[in-house]
Amino acid sequence: KLYNQVQDLKGSIRVYCRVRPFLPGQVSSCAVGSIDEGNITIITPSKSGKEGRKTFSFNKVFGPSATQDEVFLDTQPLIRSVLDGYNVCIFAYGQTGSGKTYTMSGPKNMTEQTQGVNYRALSDLFKLAEQRKGAFIYDIAVQMIEIYNEQVRTSLSMMNGLNVPDASLVRVASTMDVMELMNVGQKNRAVGATALNDRSSRSHSCLTVHVQGRDLTSGTILRGCMHLVDLAGSERVDKSEVTGERLKEAQHINKSLSALGDVIASLAQKSAHVPYRNSKLTQLLQDSLGGQAKTLMFVHISPESDALGESISTLKFAERVS
Ligand code: ADP
Ligand code: MG
Repeated sequence: KLYNQVQDLKGSIRVYCRVRPFLPGQVSSCAVGSIDEGNITIITPSKSGKEGRKTFSFNKVFGPSATQDEVFLDTQPLIRSVLDGYNVCIFAYGQTGSGKTYTMSGPKNMTEQTQGVNYRALSDLFKLAEQRKGAFIYDIAVQMIEIYNEQVRTSLSMMNGLNVPDASLVRVASTMDVMELMNVGQKNRAVGATALNDRSSRSHSCLTVHVQGRDLTSGTILRGCMHLVDLAGSERVDKSEVTGERLKEAQHINKSLSALGDVIASLAQKSAHVPYRNSKLTQLLQDSLGGQAKTLMFVHISPESDALGESISTLKFAERVS
């Protein structure tokens, strides 16, 4: 049985906005005025000293108190469609520190309740595959890919200290396997310290899940693929303050995020030409963006007023692709 609820969703591109809570010890005023179902209102200061308000609308807005469970509930139908042979891309977009990694992976000291979309998606796939055992046989394999400075690396190729390129595609049989692989992959990511975040923020990190299902009655093979992408931080860097390596990184990030925005926007507008060739990221994901594929973009907002400028550019990016 196909998961028809996915086809019921309007269009194949969805945009969810998520606002993270204030972090412990953070003192700042709040730039988010109100949130309801699909609307978020931002408070902007104006020259006259009077507050301005601007509302943005998306498929869904998750406020600071939304749990990982709630977020996953609205993501689950998409993930399930992978078992029916659909290709799916889920992106986490936002400035560094806005909660991308929290949504996709979870916090550093993770509990079962705070596990992110990646873990939940994989365990859901295993659970469903198990349920369909009498009718289908599924083969599930994962791959972790990192794009840094427009170079693609597979961060699982260093398993057990051996640099084996073919090891980049790993068959998995349980959520435990995946957890282990993700830990290896995380460790292999290029990590550079930033003032905002100690985890890697300047590369795109993609967990790809390949699913092949064989219908035991008809012998038909279904192939689906899911990309779970924790994007590099979207913040604009001040060109007068960074030089050399940092400037190069920033330019590559800028280029690939705008290429991604261009691709999704042209898909959303159903335009005839989709500019996939402009970045490694969009080239890599070409087969899973557009056509029958389903796309979900999580855009992340930091609530504090200090982040207002970045939040507005994030919301504008999101508005353009929805
Ligand atoms: P990013 O990946 O965008 O740089 P992180 O996911 O690392 O941001 O989040 C920054 C900090 O905020 C981390 O300490 C993270 O645990 C915390 N955080 C983010 N989102 C939430 C949330 N929804 N609830 C609680 N803490 C969060
Ligand atoms: Mg992160």
